[in-house]
Amino acid sequence: VKHLDQQDKAVAQAIRQELTRQRDTIELIASENFVSEAVMEAAGTVLTNKYAEGYPGRRYYGGCAYVDKIEEIAIQRVKALFGADHVNVQPHSGAQANMAVYFAAVKPGDTILGMDLSHGGHLTHGSPVNFSGRFYNFVSYGVEEQTGLIDFDQVRKLAHKHLPRMIVAGGSAYPRTIEFEKFAQIAAEVGALFFVDMAHIAGIVAAGLHPNPLPHAHFVTTTTHKTLRGPRGGIIMCRKPWAQAIDKAIFPGTQGGPLMHIIAAKAVALGEALQPEFKTYMEKVIDNANVLAESLMNEGLTVVSGGTDNHLVLVDLRTIGLSGKEAQIILDEVGITANKNAIPYDTASPLVTSGIRFGTPAMTSRGLGPKEMKEIGQLIGLAFKNTNSSTVKDQIKKAVREIILQFPLYEGLESLDRA
Ligand code: PLP
Repeated sequence: VKHLDQQDKAVAQAIRQELTRQRDTIELIASENFVSEAVMEAAGTVLTNKYAEGYPGRRYYGGCAYVDKIEEIAIQRVKALFGADHVNVQPHSGAQANMAVYFAAVKPGDTILGMDLSHGGHLTHGSPVNFSGRFYNFVSYGVEEQTGLIDFDQVRKLAHKHLPRMIVAGGSAYPRTIEFEKFAQIAAEVGALFFVDMAHIAGIVAAGLHPNPLPHAHFVTTTTHKTLRGPRGGIIMCRKPWAQAIDKAIFPGTQGGPLMHIIAAKAVALGEALQPEFKTYMEKVIDNANVLAESLMNEGLTVVSGGTDNHLVLVDLRTIGLSGKEAQIILDEVGITANKNAIPYDTASPLVTSGIRFGTPAMTSRGLGPKEMKEIGQLIGLAFKNTNSSTVKDQIKKAVREIILQFPLYEGLESLDRA
């Protein structure tokens, strides 16, 4: 940050501090990852200067020859990864991708069946505090209390009762494989459109380690910054007949000019996801999540659904008398970053919650393996059992540091050296 240093010390310093924070902590937020240097380079380029409203070959601005090339590469890579008919890589975020799908396919006031936020859904799947819950008549399904698995009897019952225009699957805190064909079957029974938001699991799908929703769904959205390990942003995929409606819903429907620097970074990340090494990475992510879940259960913690099939582990803290908020603070103090999260049938407020969510994509990108995941599970158990002991806290902090320093992060960022 040579120029930033000279021009704006306050921002430069905060960026440095954030790099140090990322280097020095164990990052277990399930929706985060560390992108490659190549992805970061693409995101920090002259492309940020370019207006390119419209789509490749049909823009509203001149000078789009090169950004057209970049957007086309991104689109082709999404098609190659997921087998999509039509792709829009312009959504600025996952929420905007979802907004465009609703904008394209349902009218305000229409009924949509989506997963309850506290059961693992996302805000944009009908939460009353989100545009989705305000503009559309959402009905929510959830998971079975005993198993933590999606309750398909309930999905079917609600679908037949409310005859939704659309059914939404996918979520932010569901640790098990999603059976898309079951949803598609129910959608077909009631004549509903089927929309899958695979934001959390897109990388796993890309690697062929989770069933692909594309053959079953009319619309599929994803974020690019979670398991897919790209820059922050969104993507929409859809079947041919919906192509025009989706493109129009993004521009001019809900966005203006695309972020071409981010689309370039998406293209680079998608190129990485097409390499054989990405599958190996994703296998490690899942293995690590399993080892972490096992280790947490060995510490006496309750893991929702008894384990995981993907990259995330959801812990029910009610059995140890801690709230999600308390657990998050306890871990923060020892250098482990995670987020409080509602668990199914949670009675605590969303600002407190009774659960905590862990994920392994970021630490796997950094090179941590099963040995470290087992130890991290033990350290979390120790932290939760010794909330009043500063000696134990110091011990854990030291152990965290010892683990993390073995796995350097962004060593190539010479100019972003330690604060
Ligand atoms: N959909 C799901 C399932 C998510 O988990 C998220 C983010 O957490 C989003 C959509 C929203 O993505 P963004 O934060 O990019 O708007």
